Amino acid sequence: PIKTMPDILKETVDTIPDQVAIKFYEKEISYRELWSLSDKFTSSLQQSGVKKGDRTAIMLPNCSHYIIAYYGILKAGSIVTQVNPMLLEKELLHILNDSGAQTIIVYEPLYPSVKAIAGQTALETIIVVSFESDQRILSEDQTFEDFIGKGGQAPEPVSIDPLEDIAVLQYTGGTTGRSKGAMLTHRNIAVNAQQSYAFFQNELTFGMESCLTVIPLFHVFAMTSCMNLSILIGANIILLPRFDLDEVLNTIKTEQPTKFPGVPTMYIALVNHPEAKNYGIDSIRICISGSAPMPIETMKEFERKTGAKILEGFGLSEASPVTHANPVFAERKTGSVGIGLPSTEYQVVDLATGESEVPTGELGELIIRGPQVMKGYWNMQEETEHALRNGWLYTGDIAKVDEDGYVYIVDRKKDMIIASGYNVYPRDIEEVLYEHPAVQEAVVIGIPDAYRGETIKAIVVKKADHAVTEQEVIGWMKERIATYKVPAIVEFREALPKTQVGKILRRALREEQAIRQ
Ligand code: ATP
Repeated sequence: PIKTMPDILKETVDTIPDQVAIKFYEKEISYRELWSLSDKFTSSLQQSGVKKGDRTAIMLPNCSHYIIAYYGILKAGSIVTQVNPMLLEKELLHILNDSGAQTIIVYEPLYPSVKAIAGQTALETIIVVSFESDQRILSEDQTFEDFIGKGGQAPEPVSIDPLEDIAVLQYTGGTTGRSKGAMLTHRNIAVNAQQSYAFFQNELTFGMESCLTVIPLFHVFAMTSCMNLSILIGANIILLPRFDLDEVLNTIKTEQPTKFPGVPTMYIALVNHPEAKNYGIDSIRICISGSAPMPIETMKEFERKTGAKILEGFGLSEASPVTHANPVFAERKTGSVGIGLPSTEYQVVDLATGESEVPTGELGELIIRGPQVMKGYWNMQEETEHALRNGWLYTGDIAKVDEDGYVYIVDRKKDMIIASGYNVYPRDIEEVLYEHPAVQEAVVIGIPDAYRGETIKAIVVKKADHAVTEQEVIGWMKERIATYKVPAIVEFREALPKTQVGKILRRALREEQAIRQ
C-alpha cells in the first residue's frame, strides 16, 4: 500500500518511541509525544468541525507547534495551507481567500494582522501560538495549548486516498509573479521523502541523524528535506526560527547536527564569518543546497574553510520539491544540480515549442515527470494546463543535460535578459562576479533601455574591508567575459532584498528599476 506521511511517522514512532523528534531551544519532544500531541490536535480540529478536504492554514515560524499542527492536520484529512509569516496584508488575503481556509494557526505577533482581516475571509477558528507561556492576551481566540487541551486521545479515523487526496497547498514563493497554490497529494509529499532517502541512503542512518532546520518549514524545501525526511529516518529536528549567524554557529557547536539543508545565501554568510571553522562545522556530513543557484566559487571556499561538503540539488514547489541532486555514490559535478532522484524522468525540450527534446548539451526548458509532481494548481485550470502537459511538469527553467545525465540550470526563462538582441543569462555573469575578491553577493538584472532593449545591471554587496569602484568591476569583467555580457552599470548596496527563504528577489529589484525610469 502507498504510505502517507502520518503512516511513516507511525512506523518511526513504533521503532524509536523515546528518541528525540524535535528540539526547539530547551524543549525536546520525543517521537511518542509527537504522535500523541498531533493526535490531540486532530481530535480538536474534528471537534471544531474541520472535515476531510477543509483547508487549515499554518502561519508560523519554525517551532515545535508547527510540526504538531502539520501532522495533526494531515491525520484529519484536512489540507495544510502553508502561509509565509512575512506576508503583507494583500498577499495574505490572496492566499486565505484563494484557499478558503476556515482555520488558521498563527504566531502571536502576527495575530493582530490576521484578526484585522479575518472578516474578509472564510476564517472561523484562529489558534494562537506564543513562545512565552505567560503571554495570554487573547479574549476571543484560543491559544494552541487550550485548543490541544480540548482534544480527546483518539481522533476519528479518516480514510485517505494517497493518490488523489490533497495533503498540502504549497503557494509558490511569487518571486516571479502571482502566488499559485500547488496541490500536493499525500503520495507526492511522502514519496519525495522516500526518494530523497533512497538517493542519500548510504549517508543517512535511521535513528542516528540530526537536522539543523533554519530554512522555514512553510517553504517546500524545508518541509520535505528538514521535516518529512527527518521523520522518515527518525532524525532529531533541531529548529531555529530565524537565520541569525551567531545562533546558527553556536547551535552547530553545541548540537553537532549531521545534516544542514540550506540556501546559498546562508552558506555565503557562514563562509564569510572570520571564525566559522572554529565551530565544528565539519560535524555536518551533508549540506544540501537548493532553491537557488549556488555560486561555484562560494562552494569551493566553503569546503576549503569548513571541511563540510555541499551537495547541490534542485526542486520546485510543484514537485514537492526535490527532483535532482548531486549524488554521494557517484561523481559530484560542481555547477550542476546533479541527476534525477529515483523514479524521476527528465528531459530538456525546445524553448519555444516545448515539444521536441534538444540534443545533449543544448539549452532548452527542463521538464520533469515523477510521482512527486503535483496534481495541479488550486483553482487555476489554465495555469495547470500550461504547467502540466502529457504528465510532464514544465519548470520554466532553462537547462542543459550532459552526456552523463547531469543537469545544469542556466537560468529561469523569466530572468533571461535580451540585450542588443543577445540572450544573456544573469547567472553566467553572476558566477564571474563571485570570483572577484571584493564581492560578497551579486545579482544581475536587465533594465529597460530604449536602444538595446535591455541594459545589464549588476548590484553588488562588497565584502567587509574591501574597496572597489564601479569602473574597476567593469574593467575586471571585460577581461573575463564577452563584451555584450559586461554590465553597463554596477551599483553597490549594503544588502540585497530576499525572500524569507533567502532567495534574492529579482522581481523587486526589476520593479524598483522600472519605477526609477
Ligand atoms: P515562483 O515560482 O512563484 O517564482 P519561487 O521561486 O519561490 O516562486 P519555488 O518553487 O520555491 O518558487 O522555486 C523553484 C525554482 O527555484 C526553480 O524553478 C528554479 O528556478 C529555482 N531553483 C531551485 N533550486 C535551484 C538550483 N539548485 N539552482 C538554480 N535554481 C534553482
